[in-house]
Amino acid sequence: MTKKILLLLLLIVCCIWAYLQLSSRTQKILVLESEVRSVPIKYLVVHSFNETPEKMVDNLQKYGLSVHYLIDAKGNIQQLVPENRVAWHAGPSFWAGTQGLNRSSIGIELEHADFGQTDFPKAQIDSLIHLMKDIIQRHRILPENIVAHSDIAPDGKMDPGRAFSWQQLAEQGIGLWYNIDDADKLPPDLTVAELLAMVGYPVKGRQLTASAWAFREHFMPEVVPYDGDIQKRGDMIFQARQKVAKLPAAEQAKALEQVPAIYPPDDGTYLTDPHFIQVLRAVAYQYQQQRLLHP
Ligand SMILES: [Zn+2]
Repeated sequence: MTKKILLLLLLIVCCIWAYLQLSSRTQKILVLESEVRSVPIKYLVVHSFNETPEKMVDNLQKYGLSVHYLIDAKGNIQQLVPENRVAWHAGPSFWAGTQGLNRSSIGIELEHADFGQTDFPKAQIDSLIHLMKDIIQRHRILPENIVAHSDIAPDGKMDPGRAFSWQQLAEQGIGLWYNIDDADKLPPDLTVAELLAMVGYPVKGRQLTASAWAFREHFMPEVVPYDGDIQKRGDMIFQARQKVAKLPAAEQAKALEQVPAIYPPDDGTYLTDPHFIQVLRAVAYQYQQQRLLHP
């Protein structure tokens, strides 16, 4: 009898221990500004921020913004909005013909002191991979729809940043990478704008240069230099965009054109760089093939 009670006690202790382990990784949901979802989840968007998680949550609340998950530098996951609600994390955005990705996406924010300019901690990436695999499986998110904030809003956003390794994620079956040998499989006369659009990037007006930058950050991070001014520029652009958002709707598009772009000044020579074009062709081929599989 005593042995049975001891075994029962041991079982209870084990259950409590397992529960505490789990709840220390995924904390309770703190519901931020959000609304009921009316369309299916199709996209997964990765972000980064360089505040403490507490300050980040304060800032989100202050600006009426929100995101589904926040992962701190140690790898702890905090859920801020349930997945069945729309969170306000993507802002003005575009991917492969879809405008405004908030309604159909889940957003994940990563704490990073250097705003994605230097390596992300292993524990944090491990947690992210675990969470992304779970979300992708539950919502059947296609690999071509797993994107960086900078991919879908290249004109104003540069997160998660050059040090975020999409190649490492692709090796884990998350998102797409490329095979350089595929570069020759597309017709030779496609322009950079046509190739970027095949991947999914917006290419209208100055978005072409911004998208080319975002593409390099995602698929050629080794050629993107460390950017020490990124936070300052990002803050300035965020404030300028907040002012635009307060204008009457009819005036916003024109005013938005006056807000400087976030990517660093560049003479644009990379648009004609043969290596850039070769990688872009290989990536465009990969995305084209994927979309043929999932029309
Ligand atoms: Zn972001």
